[in-house]
Amino acid sequence: MEKQHTTQKSAYVSGIALHTGARAGLRILPGEANTGIIFRRIDMPDQPEIPALAQNVTDVRRGTTIACGKGFVVTVEHVMAAFHAAQIDNAVVEMDGPEPPILDGSALPYYEMIIEAGKTELDAPARYIAPKTPIFLEFRGTKMVIFPCEEFKIDCITSFGETILDTQYYEQTITEENFARELAPARTFVQFRDLKQLLAMGLVKGGSLDNAAILHEGAIICKEGLRYPNEIVRHKMLDIVGDMFLTGCRLKGHIIAVKPGHPTNVQLAGAILKQYC
Ligand SMILES: [Zn+2]
Repeated sequence: MEKQHTTQKSAYVSGIALHTGARAGLRILPGEANTGIIFRRIDMPDQPEIPALAQNVTDVRRGTTIACGKGFVVTVEHVMAAFHAAQIDNAVVEMDGPEPPILDGSALPYYEMIIEAGKTELDAPARYIAPKTPIFLEFRGTKMVIFPCEEFKIDCITSFGETILDTQYYEQTITEENFARELAPARTFVQFRDLKQLLAMGLVKGGSLDNAAILHEGAIICKEGLRYPNEIVRHKMLDIVGDMFLTGCRLKGHIIAVKPGHPTNVQLAGAILKQYC
């Protein structure tokens, strides 16, 4: 029988957070069986804990925010994607601020942290969630459907209308190996036309060409060049892998996503939970 996992030891990383622009530290610690992924705000009185579950999501505008009691954490999706793909079912994530460091804008540094911390089996059966009938969602130009499937697969289409380069399609079976090689290194991006508004909202203060690509007037601008010709769609798939772990279970199913974003990702995770838990 497949067992649950946690990390063997702890691992620490620090850096600038994307939205707040503040320096942030994040430590991954081993968790107990059946406790799931729990974020802990060690900078707040009583160190509130926030279980990473769809029912605790409070904001999905520019990332996935979770909250419980007075505690909250923004932009959890890249850390969650690394946990999901590496099948780390249980862990405590201690943070000294509201947002994980953005690092290079991808999930690769978090995946590497998990590898550094090591994986250990716990004496409890692995929890999978596998829809038996399709679930379809449509919201503001986004379409998402999940079909029954013995594996975790994603087909994804992006199109932002900035440049023909941002109309991208990619499909991948989400195993740990495929995630590490094909999705984890894909970095986040922003549309130039949104930047002014985001900055006015007090967001993306930590954004730079070191951790994000910019879509602008027919071009994709980034410092080190693209890591994949279709890096944008791969990053969107990475976000889906992260948001789907908000079910608290490893997912088996085939997702087809047209122009996805956090609102529909989280809605789909919630709909799967409602039907199958
Ligand atoms: Zn992302």
